Amino acid sequence: MKDFCYVVGCIVMVLGVIGSIVLAASLGVEVSYSHYGTLREERNWLLTIVWFGVGVLSTAVVSSILFALSEVLGYLARINNKLTSSDINSVIDSMKLVEGSEWRCSRCGRINNKAVGTCACGQSRE
Ligand SMILES: [Zn+2]
Repeated sequence: MKDFCYVVGCIVMVLGVIGSIVLAASLGVEVSYSHYGTLREERNWLLTIVWFGVGVLSTAVVSSILFALSEVLGYLARINNKLTSSDINSVIDSMKLVEGSEWRCSRCGRINNKAVGTCACGQSRE
């Protein structure tokens, strides 16, 4: 999903630049009728540059959103990997401890039920 967004971001960027050129080329033309009644197309360079700018700008916005999304997804994937490895158990342990239904042995770290007064290692509950 992360790579997908990155690839789509790249495609949008390339297509956007091409699209901007096409947009600028087609919309940067002023059509007017000459004195003889014939259609006359004249390139308006200011209009061309403005349309190109609009195209490139919107492309930059869309692709940067996709790149940001790809970054966020990568970050989430890293968090997920971290949690699924070993930290998830300690997170669950501390959640249990917060509930107060269990206690952690100060000597061996074992989680014991609150009904248990002495840990399996011999250490008594404090
Ligand atoms: Zn113990």
